[in-house]
Amino acid sequence: MTSEGADASRDDQPDSALAIAAAVRSGERTAASVVEVSLGAIAARDPELHAFLHVASDHARAAAAAIDETVRAGRDPGPLAGVPVALKDNLCTRGVPTTCASKILEGWRPPYDATVVTRLQDAGAVVVGKTNLDEFAMGSSTENSCKGPTRHPMDPTRVPGGSSGGSAAAVAAGLVPLGLGSDTGGSVRQPAALCGVVGVKPTYGVVSRYGLVAFASSLDQIGPLARSVADAAVLFEVIAGHDPLDSTSLDEPVPRVTRVLEAGVEGLRVGVCNELVEGTSPDVARRVREAAEDLAKAGALVEEVSVPEMRFGLSAYYLIAPAEASSNLARYDGVRYGLRVDAPDVAAMNTATRTAGFGAEVKRRIMLGTYALSAGYYDAYYAKAQRVRTLLIRAFERAYERLDVLLGATSPTTAFEIGERVVDPLAMYMSDVCTIPSNLSGHPAMSVPFGTGEDGLPVGVQVLAPALHEEPMFQVAAALERAAAARAAAVPGGEGRR
Ligand code: GLN
Repeated sequence: MTSEGADASRDDQPDSALAIAAAVRSGERTAASVVEVSLGAIAARDPELHAFLHVASDHARAAAAAIDETVRAGRDPGPLAGVPVALKDNLCTRGVPTTCASKILEGWRPPYDATVVTRLQDAGAVVVGKTNLDEFAMGSSTENSCKGPTRHPMDPTRVPGGSSGGSAAAVAAGLVPLGLGSDTGGSVRQPAALCGVVGVKPTYGVVSRYGLVAFASSLDQIGPLARSVADAAVLFEVIAGHDPLDSTSLDEPVPRVTRVLEAGVEGLRVGVCNELVEGTSPDVARRVREAAEDLAKAGALVEEVSVPEMRFGLSAYYLIAPAEASSNLARYDGVRYGLRVDAPDVAAMNTATRTAGFGAEVKRRIMLGTYALSAGYYDAYYAKAQRVRTLLIRAFERAYERLDVLLGATSPTTAFEIGERVVDPLAMYMSDVCTIPSNLSGHPAMSVPFGTGEDGLPVGVQVLAPALHEEPMFQVAAALERAAAARAAAVPGGEGRR
Protein backbone atom coordinates (compact mmCIF):
# COMPACT_ATOMS: atom_id res chain seq x y z
CA MET A 1 0.00 0.00 0.00
CA THR A 2 1.15 3.50 -0.67
CA SER A 3 1.13 5.82 2.28
CA GLU A 4 -1.18 8.79 2.02
CA GLY A 5 -0.69 12.40 3.01
CA ALA A 6 1.65 15.08 1.78
CA ASP A 7 4.66 13.65 3.59
CA ALA A 8 4.53 10.25 1.93
CA SER A 9 8.28 10.39 1.40
CA ARG A 10 8.77 9.29 5.00
CA ASP A 11 9.19 5.70 3.83
CA ASP A 12 10.85 4.28 0.74
CA GLN A 13 7.58 3.91 -1.17
CA PRO A 14 7.20 6.21 -4.17
CA ASP A 15 4.71 9.01 -3.58
CA SER A 16 1.05 8.41 -4.29
CA ALA A 17 -0.79 10.53 -6.86
CA LEU A 18 -2.98 11.90 -4.08
CA ALA A 19 0.06 12.96 -2.02
CA ILE A 20 1.70 14.65 -5.01
CA ALA A 21 -1.46 16.52 -6.00
CA ALA A 22 -2.00 17.70 -2.41
CA ALA A 23 1.59 18.95 -2.15
CA VAL A 24 1.52 20.71 -5.52
CA ARG A 25 -1.88 22.34 -4.90
CA SER A 26 -0.72 23.68 -1.54
CA GLY A 27 2.53 25.01 -3.04
CA GLU A 28 4.63 22.73 -0.83
CA ARG A 29 6.15 21.04 -3.91
CA THR A 30 6.47 22.29 -7.46
CA ALA A 31 5.20 20.31 -10.41
CA ALA A 32 8.60 21.00 -11.99
CA SER A 33 10.40 19.14 -9.17
CA VAL A 34 7.91 16.27 -9.29
CA VAL A 35 8.37 15.83 -13.03
CA GLU A 36 12.17 15.77 -12.63
CA VAL A 37 11.87 12.94 -10.10
CA SER A 38 9.79 10.96 -12.59
CA LEU A 39 12.08 11.71 -15.57
CA GLY A 40 15.09 10.79 -13.42
CA ALA A 41 13.52 7.47 -12.42
CA ILE A 42 12.72 6.74 -16.07
CA ALA A 43 16.29 7.54 -17.13
CA ALA A 44 17.68 5.27 -14.40
CA ARG A 45 15.38 2.30 -14.77
CA ASP A 46 13.82 2.27 -18.21
CA PRO A 47 16.84 1.11 -20.20
CA GLU A 48 16.36 -2.21 -18.38
CA LEU A 49 12.54 -2.30 -18.32
CA HIS A 50 11.69 -0.79 -21.69
CA ALA A 51 8.31 0.39 -20.44
CA PHE A 52 8.45 3.59 -22.55
CA LEU A 53 8.47 3.97 -26.32
CA HIS A 54 8.73 7.75 -26.10
CA VAL A 55 9.62 10.02 -23.19
CA ALA A 56 8.08 13.46 -23.75
CA SER A 57 10.51 15.37 -21.50
CA ASP A 58 10.05 18.77 -23.15
CA HIS A 59 6.25 18.54 -23.19
CA ALA A 60 6.28 17.35 -19.57
CA ARG A 61 8.56 20.16 -18.38
CA ALA A 62 6.47 22.77 -20.17
CA ALA A 63 3.25 21.35 -18.70
CA ALA A 64 4.76 21.31 -15.21
CA ALA A 65 5.92 24.92 -15.54
CA ALA A 66 2.40 25.97 -16.55
CA ILE A 67 0.94 24.20 -13.50
CA ASP A 68 3.40 25.93 -11.18
CA GLU A 69 2.42 29.24 -12.78
CA THR A 70 -1.26 28.46 -12.08
CA VAL A 71 -0.46 27.76 -8.42
CA ARG A 72 1.59 30.97 -8.14
CA ALA A 73 -1.33 32.91 -9.61
CA GLY A 74 -3.53 31.56 -6.81
CA ARG A 75 -5.62 29.26 -9.00
CA ASP A 76 -6.18 25.52 -8.53
CA PRO A 77 -4.65 23.34 -11.28
CA GLY A 78 -7.03 20.48 -10.44
CA PRO A 79 -7.26 17.14 -8.66
CA LEU A 80 -4.18 15.67 -10.37
CA ALA A 81 -2.01 18.78 -10.03
CA GLY A 82 1.53 17.95 -11.08
CA VAL A 83 0.97 14.19 -11.15
CA PRO A 84 3.09 12.41 -13.81
CA VAL A 85 1.08 10.05 -15.99
CA ALA A 86 2.22 7.47 -18.58
CA LEU A 87 -0.04 6.82 -21.57
CA LYS A 88 -0.28 3.59 -23.52
CA ASP A 89 0.95 4.36 -27.01
CA ASN A 90 -2.43 3.74 -28.62
CA LEU A 91 -3.78 6.99 -27.14
CA CYS A 92 -3.49 9.94 -29.50
CA THR A 93 -1.32 12.81 -28.31
CA ARG A 94 -1.16 15.93 -30.45
CA GLY A 95 2.31 16.31 -32.00
CA VAL A 96 3.72 13.41 -29.98
CA PRO A 97 4.42 10.09 -31.77
CA THR A 98 1.63 7.52 -31.40
CA THR A 99 2.75 4.18 -32.82
CA CYS A 100 0.62 1.38 -31.29
CA ALA A 101 4.01 -0.41 -31.26
CA SER A 102 3.49 -1.04 -34.98
CA LYS A 103 5.84 -0.32 -37.86
CA ILE A 104 2.82 0.76 -39.87
CA LEU A 105 2.40 3.90 -37.72
CA GLU A 106 6.12 4.72 -37.59
CA GLY A 107 6.57 8.49 -37.70
CA TRP A 108 2.87 9.35 -37.29
CA ARG A 109 2.11 12.30 -35.02
CA PRO A 110 -1.63 12.72 -34.39
CA PRO A 111 -3.10 16.16 -35.10
CA TYR A 112 -5.34 15.91 -32.01
CA ASP A 113 -5.45 14.70 -28.39
CA ALA A 114 -7.61 11.83 -27.17
CA THR A 115 -10.39 13.05 -24.86
CA VAL A 116 -8.73 11.29 -21.90
CA VAL A 117 -5.54 13.25 -22.60
CA THR A 118 -7.45 16.55 -22.64
CA ARG A 119 -9.19 15.61 -19.38
CA LEU A 120 -5.89 14.67 -17.74
CA GLN A 121 -4.41 18.02 -18.74
CA ASP A 122 -7.52 19.87 -17.51
CA ALA A 123 -7.06 18.09 -14.16
CA GLY A 124 -3.45 19.27 -13.88
CA ALA A 125 -1.76 15.95 -14.70
CA VAL A 126 1.56 15.90 -16.57
CA VAL A 127 1.94 13.40 -19.42
CA VAL A 128 5.55 12.15 -19.29
CA GLY A 129 5.50 9.68 -22.13
CA LYS A 130 4.02 6.90 -24.20
CA THR A 131 4.33 3.29 -23.11
CA ASN A 132 4.98 -0.02 -24.79
CA LEU A 133 2.21 -2.43 -25.75
CA ASP A 134 1.49 -5.43 -27.88
CA GLU A 135 1.07 -4.20 -31.46
CA PHE A 136 -2.41 -2.59 -31.73
CA ALA A 137 -3.10 -3.97 -28.22
CA MET A 138 -3.24 -7.54 -29.51
CA GLY A 139 -1.57 -9.75 -26.97
CA SER A 140 -1.13 -10.53 -23.28
CA SER A 141 2.58 -10.09 -22.68
CA THR A 142 3.83 -6.95 -24.51
CA GLU A 143 6.06 -9.29 -26.54
CA ASN A 144 4.13 -8.47 -29.74
CA SER A 145 5.61 -4.95 -29.79
CA CYS A 146 7.61 -4.08 -32.91
CA LYS A 147 10.06 -2.40 -30.49
CA GLY A 148 10.70 -5.50 -28.37
CA PRO A 149 9.25 -6.57 -25.03
CA THR A 150 8.86 -4.77 -21.72
CA ARG A 151 10.32 -6.60 -18.74
CA HIS A 152 8.63 -7.34 -15.43
CA PRO A 153 9.91 -4.88 -12.79
CA MET A 154 10.48 -7.60 -10.20
CA ASP A 155 11.99 -10.22 -12.52
CA PRO A 156 13.54 -9.22 -15.86
CA THR A 157 13.16 -12.77 -17.24
CA ARG A 158 9.36 -12.45 -17.03
CA VAL A 159 6.69 -10.54 -18.92
CA PRO A 160 4.70 -7.69 -17.30
CA GLY A 161 1.52 -8.98 -18.95
CA GLY A 162 -0.22 -7.11 -21.71
CA SER A 163 -1.21 -5.52 -23.77
CA SER A 164 -0.81 -2.46 -21.50
CA GLY A 165 2.43 -3.94 -20.10
CA GLY A 166 4.43 -0.73 -20.47
CA SER A 167 2.00 1.35 -18.39
CA ALA A 168 1.66 -1.40 -15.77
CA ALA A 169 5.44 -1.84 -15.46
CA ALA A 170 6.02 1.94 -15.30
CA VAL A 171 3.53 2.27 -12.43
CA ALA A 172 4.75 -0.85 -10.61
CA ALA A 173 8.39 0.27 -10.85
CA GLY A 174 7.54 3.68 -9.40
CA LEU A 175 8.48 5.60 -12.57
CA VAL A 176 5.06 7.28 -12.53
CA PRO A 177 2.23 7.10 -10.01
CA LEU A 178 -0.46 6.72 -12.69
CA GLY A 179 -0.85 5.14 -16.09
CA LEU A 180 -3.58 4.66 -18.65
CA GLY A 181 -4.12 1.50 -20.63
CA SER A 182 -6.85 0.11 -22.84
CA ASP A 183 -8.79 -3.05 -22.09
CA THR A 184 -10.46 -4.96 -24.94
CA GLY A 185 -10.17 -8.42 -23.40
CA GLY A 186 -8.21 -7.76 -20.21
CA SER A 187 -5.32 -5.57 -21.25
CA VAL A 188 -5.51 -3.26 -18.22
CA ARG A 189 -6.47 -5.82 -15.59
CA GLN A 190 -4.16 -8.69 -16.57
CA PRO A 191 -0.90 -6.64 -16.59
CA ALA A 192 -2.08 -4.94 -13.38
CA ALA A 193 -2.41 -8.37 -11.77
CA LEU A 194 0.96 -9.58 -13.03
CA CYS A 195 2.77 -6.40 -11.94
CA GLY A 196 1.04 -6.04 -8.56
CA VAL A 197 -0.86 -2.80 -9.22
CA VAL A 198 -4.52 -1.78 -9.41
CA GLY A 199 -6.13 -1.89 -12.88
CA VAL A 200 -9.65 -0.82 -13.82
CA LYS A 201 -11.83 -1.52 -16.83
CA PRO A 202 -14.76 0.89 -16.57
CA THR A 203 -18.28 0.22 -17.88
CA TYR A 204 -18.34 0.36 -21.70
CA GLY A 205 -19.21 3.95 -22.61
CA VAL A 206 -18.20 5.58 -19.33
CA VAL A 207 -14.78 6.70 -20.58
CA SER A 208 -14.61 8.31 -24.01
CA ARG A 209 -12.80 6.30 -26.67
CA TYR A 210 -12.25 9.38 -28.84
CA GLY A 211 -8.56 9.29 -29.75
CA LEU A 212 -8.03 5.68 -28.69
CA VAL A 213 -6.74 3.85 -31.76
CA ALA A 214 -9.49 1.28 -32.38
CA PHE A 215 -8.87 -2.44 -31.98
CA ALA A 216 -12.36 -3.93 -31.42
CA SER A 217 -14.76 -1.04 -31.02
CA SER A 218 -17.57 -2.88 -29.21
CA LEU A 219 -15.12 -4.03 -26.52
CA ASP A 220 -12.43 -1.33 -26.14
CA GLN A 221 -12.38 0.77 -22.96
CA ILE A 222 -9.64 2.98 -21.52
CA GLY A 223 -8.80 2.39 -17.88
CA PRO A 224 -6.53 3.50 -14.99
CA LEU A 225 -3.45 1.80 -13.59
CA ALA A 226 -2.28 2.91 -10.14
CA ARG A 227 -0.48 1.69 -7.04
CA SER A 228 -3.53 2.13 -4.81
CA VAL A 229 -7.30 1.90 -5.11
CA ALA A 230 -7.58 5.54 -3.99
CA ASP A 231 -5.27 6.75 -6.76
CA ALA A 232 -7.13 4.66 -9.34
CA ALA A 233 -10.41 6.15 -8.09
CA VAL A 234 -9.25 9.75 -8.62
CA LEU A 235 -7.96 8.94 -12.09
CA PHE A 236 -11.22 7.17 -12.96
CA GLU A 237 -13.28 10.23 -11.99
CA VAL A 238 -11.02 12.52 -14.01
CA ILE A 239 -11.29 10.54 -17.26
CA ALA A 240 -14.95 9.39 -16.98
CA GLY A 241 -18.02 11.23 -18.21
CA HIS A 242 -20.00 11.94 -21.35
CA ASP A 243 -18.18 13.03 -24.49
CA PRO A 244 -20.11 14.13 -27.59
CA LEU A 245 -17.06 13.19 -29.69
CA ASP A 246 -17.65 9.47 -28.99
CA SER A 247 -21.03 8.21 -30.20
CA THR A 248 -20.86 5.26 -27.78
CA SER A 249 -20.24 7.52 -24.78
CA LEU A 250 -22.95 7.23 -22.11
CA ASP A 251 -24.72 10.38 -20.98
CA GLU A 252 -24.93 9.29 -17.35
CA PRO A 253 -23.59 10.74 -14.10
CA VAL A 254 -20.04 9.58 -13.32
CA PRO A 255 -19.99 7.03 -10.48
CA ARG A 256 -18.47 8.84 -7.46
CA VAL A 257 -16.00 6.16 -6.55
CA THR A 258 -13.73 8.35 -4.40
CA ARG A 259 -16.56 8.76 -1.90
CA VAL A 260 -17.07 5.06 -1.15
CA LEU A 261 -13.54 3.90 -0.37
CA GLU A 262 -14.00 3.95 3.40
CA ALA A 263 -17.57 2.65 3.33
CA GLY A 264 -16.68 -0.97 4.11
CA VAL A 265 -18.52 -3.99 2.75
CA GLU A 266 -21.08 -4.72 5.48
CA GLY A 267 -24.11 -6.36 3.89
CA LEU A 268 -22.74 -6.32 0.33
CA ARG A 269 -23.55 -9.53 -1.54
CA VAL A 270 -20.42 -11.05 -3.07
CA GLY A 271 -20.47 -14.08 -5.38
CA VAL A 272 -17.26 -16.06 -5.72
CA CYS A 273 -17.53 -17.15 -9.32
CA ASN A 274 -16.48 -20.80 -9.86
CA GLU A 275 -15.58 -20.18 -13.49
CA LEU A 276 -13.08 -17.51 -12.40
CA VAL A 277 -11.39 -19.79 -9.85
CA GLU A 278 -11.44 -23.29 -11.34
CA GLY A 279 -8.67 -23.75 -13.84
CA THR A 280 -6.45 -21.09 -12.29
CA SER A 281 -3.20 -22.24 -10.72
CA PRO A 282 -3.55 -23.48 -7.10
CA ASP A 283 -1.69 -20.51 -5.60
CA VAL A 284 -3.89 -18.02 -7.47
CA ALA A 285 -7.07 -19.89 -6.47
CA ARG A 286 -5.91 -19.85 -2.84
CA ARG A 287 -5.57 -16.06 -2.87
CA VAL A 288 -9.08 -15.66 -4.28
CA ARG A 289 -10.46 -17.84 -1.47
CA GLU A 290 -8.53 -15.83 1.13
CA ALA A 291 -9.90 -12.63 -0.37
CA ALA A 292 -13.43 -14.01 -0.10
CA GLU A 293 -12.82 -15.01 3.55
CA ASP A 294 -11.55 -11.54 4.37
CA LEU A 295 -14.61 -9.93 2.78
CA ALA A 296 -16.86 -12.25 4.80
CA LYS A 297 -14.98 -11.25 7.98
CA ALA A 298 -15.55 -7.62 7.07
CA GLY A 299 -19.30 -8.25 6.95
CA ALA A 300 -19.99 -9.06 3.31
CA LEU A 301 -22.46 -11.83 2.48
CA VAL A 302 -20.29 -14.19 0.50
CA GLU A 303 -21.57 -17.15 -1.52
CA GLU A 304 -20.32 -19.33 -4.32
CA VAL A 305 -21.95 -18.94 -7.72
CA SER A 306 -21.62 -20.48 -11.12
CA VAL A 307 -22.02 -18.59 -14.39
CA PRO A 308 -21.38 -21.46 -16.83
CA GLU A 309 -21.78 -19.22 -19.91
CA MET A 310 -18.45 -17.62 -19.01
CA ARG A 311 -16.74 -20.75 -20.36
CA PHE A 312 -17.70 -19.73 -23.89
CA GLY A 313 -16.37 -16.19 -23.50
CA LEU A 314 -12.91 -16.85 -24.91
CA SER A 315 -14.25 -18.55 -28.06
CA ALA A 316 -16.78 -15.79 -28.73
CA TYR A 317 -14.14 -13.10 -28.11
CA TYR A 318 -11.65 -14.61 -30.56
CA LEU A 319 -14.27 -14.32 -33.31
CA ILE A 320 -15.78 -10.93 -32.42
CA ALA A 321 -12.52 -9.10 -31.61
CA PRO A 322 -10.64 -10.21 -34.78
CA ALA A 323 -13.76 -9.50 -36.89
CA GLU A 324 -13.88 -5.92 -35.63
CA ALA A 325 -10.09 -5.60 -35.89
CA SER A 326 -10.11 -6.72 -39.53
CA SER A 327 -12.49 -3.86 -40.27
CA ASN A 328 -10.76 -1.24 -38.10
CA LEU A 329 -7.28 -2.01 -39.42
CA ALA A 330 -8.35 -1.66 -43.07
CA ARG A 331 -7.51 2.05 -42.73
CA TYR A 332 -3.75 1.37 -42.68
CA ASP A 333 -3.28 1.38 -46.42
CA GLY A 334 -0.06 3.28 -46.97
CA VAL A 335 -1.99 6.44 -47.90
CA ARG A 336 -3.39 7.94 -44.73
CA TYR A 337 -0.87 7.13 -42.00
CA GLY A 338 2.79 6.38 -41.35
CA LEU A 339 4.54 3.78 -43.42
CA ARG A 340 4.31 3.47 -47.22
CA VAL A 341 6.21 0.87 -49.25
CA ASP A 342 6.19 2.03 -52.86
CA ALA A 343 5.09 -0.33 -55.66
CA PRO A 344 4.08 0.05 -59.32
CA ASP A 345 0.32 0.34 -58.64
CA VAL A 346 -1.95 1.21 -55.71
CA ALA A 347 -3.07 -2.33 -54.91
CA ALA A 348 0.52 -3.56 -54.89
CA MET A 349 1.51 -0.59 -52.71
CA ASN A 350 -1.30 -1.43 -50.22
CA THR A 351 -0.14 -5.04 -50.07
CA ALA A 352 3.54 -4.20 -49.75
CA THR A 353 2.84 -1.64 -47.02
CA ARG A 354 0.65 -3.99 -44.99
CA THR A 355 3.02 -6.92 -45.47
CA ALA A 356 5.95 -4.89 -44.17
CA GLY A 357 4.02 -2.85 -41.59
CA PHE A 358 2.03 -5.41 -39.61
CA GLY A 359 3.52 -8.04 -37.30
CA ALA A 360 2.57 -11.72 -37.22
CA GLU A 361 -0.14 -11.51 -34.52
CA VAL A 362 -1.89 -8.58 -36.20
CA LYS A 363 -1.87 -10.44 -39.52
CA ARG A 364 -3.27 -13.54 -37.78
CA ARG A 365 -6.15 -11.48 -36.32
CA ILE A 366 -6.93 -9.79 -39.65
CA MET A 367 -7.07 -13.18 -41.36
CA LEU A 368 -9.20 -14.76 -38.60
CA GLY A 369 -11.58 -11.81 -38.62
CA THR A 370 -11.89 -11.64 -42.39
CA TYR A 371 -12.61 -15.35 -42.45
CA ALA A 372 -15.27 -15.12 -39.72
CA LEU A 373 -17.03 -12.30 -41.59
CA SER A 374 -16.88 -13.79 -45.07
CA ALA A 375 -19.95 -15.03 -46.96
CA GLY A 376 -20.67 -18.64 -46.10
CA TYR A 377 -18.90 -18.46 -42.73
CA TYR A 378 -20.57 -15.39 -41.22
CA ASP A 379 -23.53 -17.29 -39.74
CA ALA A 380 -21.43 -20.19 -38.47
CA TYR A 381 -18.84 -17.98 -36.77
CA TYR A 382 -19.52 -14.27 -36.34
CA ALA A 383 -23.31 -14.44 -35.90
CA LYS A 384 -22.99 -17.41 -33.54
CA ALA A 385 -20.41 -15.60 -31.45
CA GLN A 386 -22.80 -12.65 -31.16
CA ARG A 387 -25.54 -15.00 -29.90
CA VAL A 388 -23.13 -16.42 -27.33
CA ARG A 389 -22.38 -12.85 -26.27
CA THR A 390 -26.10 -12.26 -25.66
CA LEU A 391 -26.37 -15.45 -23.61
CA LEU A 392 -23.41 -14.34 -21.49
CA ILE A 393 -24.96 -10.90 -20.90
CA ARG A 394 -28.21 -12.55 -19.74
CA ALA A 395 -26.29 -14.92 -17.45
CA PHE A 396 -24.54 -11.95 -15.83
CA GLU A 397 -27.91 -10.21 -15.41
CA ARG A 398 -29.32 -13.24 -13.62
CA ALA A 399 -26.31 -13.40 -11.29
CA TYR A 400 -26.63 -9.70 -10.46
CA GLU A 401 -30.30 -10.09 -9.51
CA ARG A 402 -29.08 -11.36 -6.14
CA LEU A 403 -25.45 -10.24 -6.01
CA ASP A 404 -23.76 -6.83 -5.88
CA VAL A 405 -20.38 -7.97 -7.20
CA LEU A 406 -18.61 -11.09 -8.42
CA LEU A 407 -15.15 -12.13 -7.30
CA GLY A 408 -12.55 -14.23 -9.08
CA ALA A 409 -8.99 -14.35 -10.32
CA THR A 410 -7.77 -11.77 -12.82
CA SER A 411 -5.18 -14.01 -14.48
CA PRO A 412 -4.95 -17.81 -14.23
CA THR A 413 -1.23 -17.55 -13.36
CA THR A 414 1.37 -15.10 -12.11
CA ALA A 415 3.84 -13.49 -14.55
CA PHE A 416 5.23 -16.02 -17.02
CA GLU A 417 8.67 -16.22 -18.64
CA ILE A 418 9.51 -14.12 -21.66
CA GLY A 419 9.17 -16.39 -24.70
CA GLU A 420 7.16 -19.05 -22.87
CA ARG A 421 3.82 -18.49 -24.66
CA VAL A 422 5.02 -16.82 -27.87
CA VAL A 423 5.19 -20.12 -29.73
CA ASP A 424 1.68 -21.15 -28.68
CA PRO A 425 -1.00 -18.53 -29.46
CA LEU A 426 -3.71 -20.54 -27.70
CA ALA A 427 -1.71 -20.62 -24.46
CA MET A 428 -1.30 -16.85 -24.80
CA TYR A 429 -5.04 -16.37 -25.46
CA MET A 430 -5.84 -18.36 -22.29
CA SER A 431 -4.18 -15.57 -20.25
CA ASP A 432 -7.41 -13.58 -20.65
CA VAL A 433 -9.93 -16.29 -19.89
CA CYS A 434 -10.97 -14.57 -16.63
CA THR A 435 -11.07 -11.00 -17.94
CA ILE A 436 -12.83 -11.40 -21.32
CA PRO A 437 -16.39 -11.99 -19.98
CA SER A 438 -16.66 -8.39 -18.66
CA ASN A 439 -15.60 -6.98 -22.03
CA LEU A 440 -18.25 -9.02 -23.82
CA SER A 441 -20.91 -7.84 -21.35
CA GLY A 442 -19.64 -4.24 -21.21
CA HIS A 443 -19.56 -4.40 -17.42
CA PRO A 444 -16.90 -2.83 -15.19
CA ALA A 445 -14.23 -4.98 -13.53
CA MET A 446 -10.98 -4.27 -11.72
CA SER A 447 -7.92 -6.08 -10.43
CA VAL A 448 -6.51 -5.53 -6.95
CA PRO A 449 -3.15 -6.95 -5.78
CA PHE A 450 -3.73 -9.66 -3.21
CA GLY A 451 -0.58 -11.38 -2.00
CA THR A 452 1.79 -13.42 -4.07
CA GLY A 453 2.04 -16.80 -5.72
CA GLU A 454 4.49 -19.57 -4.90
CA ASP A 455 7.08 -17.79 -7.04
CA GLY A 456 6.81 -14.64 -4.89
CA LEU A 457 5.23 -12.69 -7.75
CA PRO A 458 2.00 -10.71 -7.41
CA VAL A 459 -1.50 -12.19 -7.65
CA GLY A 460 -4.48 -10.04 -8.63
CA VAL A 461 -8.02 -10.62 -7.43
CA GLN A 462 -10.75 -9.41 -9.77
CA VAL A 463 -13.95 -7.62 -8.71
CA LEU A 464 -16.74 -7.54 -11.31
CA ALA A 465 -19.91 -5.44 -11.13
CA PRO A 466 -23.01 -4.61 -13.20
CA ALA A 467 -22.96 -1.73 -15.68
CA LEU A 468 -22.42 1.66 -14.01
CA HIS A 469 -21.92 0.00 -10.61
CA GLU A 470 -18.33 1.16 -10.22
CA GLU A 471 -19.17 2.34 -6.69
CA PRO A 472 -19.69 -1.09 -5.05
CA MET A 473 -16.80 -2.39 -7.16
CA PHE A 474 -14.40 0.21 -5.70
CA GLN A 475 -15.88 -0.30 -2.23
CA VAL A 476 -14.96 -3.99 -2.38
CA ALA A 477 -11.59 -3.24 -3.99
CA ALA A 478 -10.70 -0.85 -1.16
CA ALA A 479 -11.66 -3.49 1.42
CA LEU A 480 -9.49 -6.06 -0.38
CA GLU A 481 -6.57 -3.64 -0.42
CA ARG A 482 -6.87 -3.20 3.36
CA ALA A 483 -7.16 -6.96 3.85
CA ALA A 484 -4.10 -7.63 1.69
CA ALA A 485 -2.10 -5.05 3.67
CA ALA A 486 -3.17 -6.67 6.95
CA ARG A 487 -2.12 -10.09 5.72
CA ALA A 488 1.23 -8.79 4.48
CA ALA A 489 1.87 -7.07 7.82
CA ALA A 490 1.09 -10.32 9.67
CA VAL A 491 3.67 -12.34 7.71
CA PRO A 492 7.31 -11.18 7.89
CA GLY A 493 8.51 -10.72 4.31
CA GLY A 494 4.92 -11.43 3.24
CA GLU A 495 4.90 -8.79 0.54
CA GLY A 496 6.90 -11.03 -1.78
CA ARG A 497 9.73 -9.98 -4.04
CA ARG A 498 10.74 -6.36 -4.25
N1 GLN B 1 -5.00 -10.30 -24.79
C1 GLN B 1 -6.26 -10.04 -25.45
C2 GLN B 1 -6.04 -10.00 -26.93
O1 GLN B 1 -4.97 -10.28 -27.33
C3 GLN B 1 -6.81 -8.73 -24.95
C4 GLN B 1 -6.16 -7.56 -25.53
C5 GLN B 1 -6.68 -6.26 -25.02
O2 GLN B 1 -7.44 -6.20 -24.06
N2 GLN B 1 -6.32 -5.20 -25.71
O3 GLN B 1 -6.90 -9.70 -27.70
